[in-house]
Amino acid sequence: METVRTTVLGYPRIGARRELKRATEDYWAGRIDAAALHQAAAALRRDTWETLRDAGVDLVPSHTFSFYDHVLDHAELFGAVPRRFAGLDGLDRYFAMARGTEGTAPLEMTKWFDTNYHYLVPELGPDTTFRTAGARSRPVTEYEEAAALGVTTRPVLLGPLSFLLLAKPAVDAPKDFRPLDLLGPLLDAYVGLLDGLADAGVEWVQLDEPVLAADRNSAELSALRTVYDRLGSLAHRPKLMVATYFGPIGPALPVLAGTRVDGLALDLVAGAADADRIAAAGLGDRTVVAGLVDGRNVWRTDLARAMSVAASLLGSVGDLVVGTSCSLLHVPLDLTLEPDLPDGLRDRLAFARQKVDEVVLLGRALREGHQAVQRELAAASAATGTAEDTVDGRVRARLASLGTGTSRRDYAERARLQAGALPPLPTTTIGSFPQTARIRRARADLRAGRIDQAAYDTRMRGEIDEIIALQEDIGLDVLVHGEPERNDMVQYFAERLSGFAGTSHGWVQSYGTRYVRPPILYADVARPRPMTVEWTTYAQSRTGKPVKGMLTGPVTMLAWSFVRDDQQLAETARQVALALRDEIRDLEAAGIRYIQVDEPALRELLPLRAADQPAYVDWAVGAFRLATSGVAERTQIHSHMCYSEFGEIVDTIDALDADVTSVEAARSRMELVTDLAKAGYRRGIGPGVYDIHSPRVPTVAEIEEALRLALEAVPPDRLWVNPDCGLKTRTYAEVEPALRNLVEATRRVRASL
Ligand code: GLN
Ligand code: ZN
Repeated sequence: METVRTTVLGYPRIGARRELKRATEDYWAGRIDAAALHQAAAALRRDTWETLRDAGVDLVPSHTFSFYDHVLDHAELFGAVPRRFAGLDGLDRYFAMARGTEGTAPLEMTKWFDTNYHYLVPELGPDTTFRTAGARSRPVTEYEEAAALGVTTRPVLLGPLSFLLLAKPAVDAPKDFRPLDLLGPLLDAYVGLLDGLADAGVEWVQLDEPVLAADRNSAELSALRTVYDRLGSLAHRPKLMVATYFGPIGPALPVLAGTRVDGLALDLVAGAADADRIAAAGLGDRTVVAGLVDGRNVWRTDLARAMSVAASLLGSVGDLVVGTSCSLLHVPLDLTLEPDLPDGLRDRLAFARQKVDEVVLLGRALREGHQAVQRELAAASAATGTAEDTVDGRVRARLASLGTGTSRRDYAERARLQAGALPPLPTTTIGSFPQTARIRRARADLRAGRIDQAAYDTRMRGEIDEIIALQEDIGLDVLVHGEPERNDMVQYFAERLSGFAGTSHGWVQSYGTRYVRPPILYADVARPRPMTVEWTTYAQSRTGKPVKGMLTGPVTMLAWSFVRDDQQLAETARQVALALRDEIRDLEAAGIRYIQVDEPALRELLPLRAADQPAYVDWAVGAFRLATSGVAERTQIHSHMCYSEFGEIVDTIDALDADVTSVEAARSRMELVTDLAKAGYRRGIGPGVYDIHSPRVPTVAEIEEALRLALEAVPPDRLWVNPDCGLKTRTYAEVEPALRNLVEATRRVRASL
C-alpha cells in the first residue's frame, strides 16, 4: 500500500466559544493588556494544534492564526506599513492599520475571493521597502511554539504572487506603478524568511497562491515562474508546498510543475477540473495534496467519490496527501455543539472538526484499504445525496407559471413619476442603527424565556420610536426603522422562511472580530407569513417622513448561507426571490413607498473566471428582478451593495433595474462614482460618504468634499447621501455626530447648487 498522508490547509482561529473576539474586544476596551491578549491567542493556537494532532492529521499547519486578518499579518511581516502609521508600533499599529484611529484611515477592506471573509488590502508604492524579522518573525516563533508542545508543523505563508496581486498602489504612487513591480525586493524578503525557517528546522512551508484560481495574464504567469524558480533554487530552504484553492488553476498548473517546488495543494472540489490535468502535468516526483474535503460548505463528503478521485491520482504523483480543498476558516467549528438541528439534517453535515475526521478517514481508507473502514464509509454514504422532505410543490408550481416575464416600465418613465417628492441630494441611511447592549439584552431575555414575545415586541417598538425620533431630529429625509429586531440581515429572514435551519454556535469570521452564523439552506424555500411588514408600518406610523422598507436580496441570502448542493443555485435563488416578491408587495400594499433590497454579496458570488460570469449574472439579475418587479412605478426600489471594485460589474448593477443603488465608496475615495458615470449608469446612486467599518467620526468638510467630488460625475437629483453601509456595528456616540455632520455637509452643498 502507498503511504498516503493527511492534512488540512488551515483551521478556524476564533475558538469554540469565540474566545478570540472576547479577548480582542477586551484589549481594545482597555480591560486586558497586550500580554493577556497574547496569552489568549497562544491558548487558541495550542488548542488547534493539539486537536489536529490528536485527531490523527499527519501534517499540521501553523501560522494560520491571526489577530485580525492574515493578509494584514503579511503586510506587517514584510514591513509594508504605510507612512501614516509610522508613529505607532506593536499591536497598536497592527490594529490601527485594521481599524483606523482618530485622524488616520485604516487600510481598505475587501472580500477574499468569492467568500464572505474580508481582508485588508496592503498599500504599496515605489518607495515601499520590505524586510523580515528573520529568526524572530511570527512564522518562525509559531513553529517553535508548536514544536515546544510536541507538534511538528508546516508554517503557512501567503505566497509572493498573491501578496502583490491582492495589494493596491498607495494613493501617492505614480500612475504607472503596479505592485507587481516590487516582485524582486519582495522575493528578497521571502528568501530571508525561508532562510530563518530552514534554520529553525522547518521541513515544509505552505505558500498560498489562491490568485491562481482566477484568470491570470501571461505577465502574471511569468511572474509566477520567476517566484518559484527563484525560491525553488535556494540552497537553504524548507520544502515548498504551493497551495491553491477556490477553483481550478488551469494554465498555472504546468507553470508550477515546471519550477522546483516540492509540492502542490489543489482544490479538487471547486477545482475538480484540475484532477484530469494532473497526470499530464508531470508531478511524478512531487507531493500533491488532493483537496477532496470541501472547506467552503457544510455537507458531508461523498467519501466513495473522494476515494476514487484520490485513487486515480496514485500513479501520477509522488507522495499523495489527502486534505481539505482550502482552509477550514470558512466553515463553523464543530457540529457537536449543535443540539437543535432538524431531524435528518444533522446526519448530512460536517463542520471543521468533522471534516478533519473525514480527511483522516480518507487517509486510512487509502492506506489500509476499503475494508478497514467499511462501517464508517457506509455511514457516510447513507448521509449524502438529496434528502426527502425537501420539496415544496406549491413553490415549484408558482415559479414554473411565473416563467421569466418579470419587468417594470423603463427607468426614465419611473423616474418621472417618482420625481419631486424629495429635495436634491436626499439623505438616508442603509438600514441598521446600532445594536446596543439594551437590544441584545432584550433578545437574550426572550431566548431565555425571561420575557414573552409580546414584551419583546413592545421593547422593539420602543427602540424604533427612539430611532425614528433621532432621525427626525438629525434631519434625514428618508428614514429607516433601524433593524433593532434583526440579529443579522440573513439570519433574520432565514428564521422566517421555511427551508432554512439556523445553528447556535456556527460562527464564521467575516472580518476582524465580526463573526456571522450562516444559516443552512437545505430544502425548498417558502414564506409562511409576512416577515417585516409589521415593523416597517409601525415605524411609518411614528413619522410624517417616508420610511424605507428593508429586505435582504436573494443572492445575498445564498451567499451568506450554506446552500444545498443538490440543485442549481439559480433555482434556489428563484425560490428566495419569490418569497421576497410577496413580501415587497405586502409592504407596498401597507403604504411603504421606498423599499430597499440589499445585495451586498452580489459581487462576492461573481465567479472568479470571466468565462463563468455571464451565466451567474444572468441568474443573479433575474432573481433580483423577480423579487422587485411586482410593484407600481411610483414605488421606489433601492438596492445596496458593499465592496470597492465596482467598475467590473457596472452593467450588472444597471441590469438590476433598481431606481437607486447605494454603494460602499468611502474607503476607495469615490472612484466608483466616476466608474459608474463613465460606464453610462444613469439611475440614482448613493455613494457612501463615510466608512462605517471604522469608529472614526467623519468631519463636515470631508463629507462635503466627497459630495462635491461625486457631483462632478452625477447630477444632484440622482445623488443620494448616505453612509457606506449599515450602522449596526457602531455606537450611538459615533453614529449621531457622524449623521449630523452628513446632514450639515449636505445642507452646505445644497446651498451652493
Ligand atoms: N440593511 C443592512 C444594514 O444596514 C445592510 C447591511 C449590509 O449591506 N451588509 O445593516
Ligand atoms: Zn453594506
